[in-house]
Amino acid sequence: MRLPQAYIGGEFRDATSGARLETINPYTGEAVAQIPDCGPEDVRAAIDAARSAFDREWRLTPGLERARLMHALADAIDAHADEIGSLETDDNGKLLSETVGQAHFAARAYRFFAGYADKLYGRAIPLDRADMLDYTRREPVGVAALITAWNSPMQLLANKLAPALAAGCTVVIKPSEHASGSTLRLAELAHEVGFPAGVINVVTGGAQCGIALSASDRVDTVSFTGSVPTGRAIAEACARNHVPVTLELGGKSPNIVFDDADLDRALAGALAGIYAAGGQTCIAGSRILVQDTIYDDFVDRLARRAAEIRLGDPRDPRTQMGPVATADQQRRILDAIDRGRADGTREATAGLHDDATPAGGLFVRPTVFADVDNASPLAREEIFGPVASVIRFADEDEAIAIANDSEFGLASGVWTTDLGRAHRVAARISAGTVWVNTYRSSAAQAPFGGIRQSGHGRERGEEALHEYLRTKNVMVDLATTYSDPFSQGATA
Ligand code: NAD
Repeated sequence: MRLPQAYIGGEFRDATSGARLETINPYTGEAVAQIPDCGPEDVRAAIDAARSAFDREWRLTPGLERARLMHALADAIDAHADEIGSLETDDNGKLLSETVGQAHFAARAYRFFAGYADKLYGRAIPLDRADMLDYTRREPVGVAALITAWNSPMQLLANKLAPALAAGCTVVIKPSEHASGSTLRLAELAHEVGFPAGVINVVTGGAQCGIALSASDRVDTVSFTGSVPTGRAIAEACARNHVPVTLELGGKSPNIVFDDADLDRALAGALAGIYAAGGQTCIAGSRILVQDTIYDDFVDRLARRAAEIRLGDPRDPRTQMGPVATADQQRRILDAIDRGRADGTREATAGLHDDATPAGGLFVRPTVFADVDNASPLAREEIFGPVASVIRFADEDEAIAIANDSEFGLASGVWTTDLGRAHRVAARISAGTVWVNTYRSSAAQAPFGGIRQSGHGRERGEEALHEYLRTKNVMVDLATTYSDPFSQGATA
């Protein structure tokens, strides 16, 4: 049983109350850790530490030094990627191969943003008078509150922490109560590589800890990844304090297969889109739109392949899908499947697999619903599990209309070999990301984020820096004379 500690002002400590929360391994059902259940007093201490480190040190630290520490952190993450991945797999049940890969992806993000730390240039702006100097400074916003979900803790955190550190912000991090292990390990690595006390702080706990942090009027920006209802609550709290907020929320992303696509490739992409990570990703391609000319054959192949996916121990390299992360999560997914069945929607996977799931573990079998009505809950609500809703369309216009008819707008996929169609559809889709002939590909350099209920603001890419910087304008009068509107004439 791990007993990690919170990280506040450069010290590892328990919650002031001494309370702890248990983390359950969703494969074994065993408790793997007890994390500190931090209360408002711990959150206040963390914000104080971040504020003091910001004012006294970090905002004055040269970009080159910030970059050096970020590179050292990236090296440490790479060196400990197996351990970090293992902690995440214990916490959320994702395949070890994926969690280790995500640790390396996170390291890449710190390196990418480290490159910006000494290049945060302002601009010299020519005005209408030659003897006026105007320039901008790009300054860190201050203390950033970073709140993350359980599904990809290291990666979600890197999307926030890397640009925040590069910009010169100090941070208070609140990972999910279901998967705090890797974030607390990251705090230890940051401590070891020499980040000054208070620059990075981690408080752990449940919703109350997140509320104390996001509703504080002493943080300067909030970046949140999680569900739509929590995002709304956080945005309301931030609005009361006039604190800017970045929201990375849910999705119901369309993955569109045209009949001119390379169908083997599209099939692989459709499967990866919805079943990788057991569908527990915000970008899951959970609405698979298939052109009517290839529809029946494609759905049949999709259902067969889905039924063949090997469930099991997420540490076993032969396993293709692990358990879902929590008992609540399993119940929610099974409820959604039951509702789809009760509505009479055709379940294409039914009968294709024996219903046996590995013993123990919070498993949900990959499921395909076919002929789904885009107005039905199966097409509108985020299930966050291995459930594909397949929808038929006739032509490009109809595909785009269905794709855009959603409360969400996070990601989308287009499978076609027609170059013109690929770019036409990419331009017309309402989503923050369009993948063409690929799905779930991501890069530290490529901006990511949603519209509508999927949130606002951008992570990754140069755009992410803007969330942690503010522009100050400096105007200097260089003239040797000046005017005094309250005297009789201009004075020299
Ligand atoms: P969640 O909203 O339940 O919790 C997310 C975090 O917020 C946790 O750390 C939690 O403790 C905290 N929290 C809960 N209530 C809070 C409150 N009122 N105020 C402040 N903090 C609070 O989400 P989850 O179940 O952990 O994650 C699943 C959701 O995350 C899905 O909807 C998924 O789509 C979304 N997600 C989005 C992205 C993205 O980048 N867009 C990535 C991953 C997950």
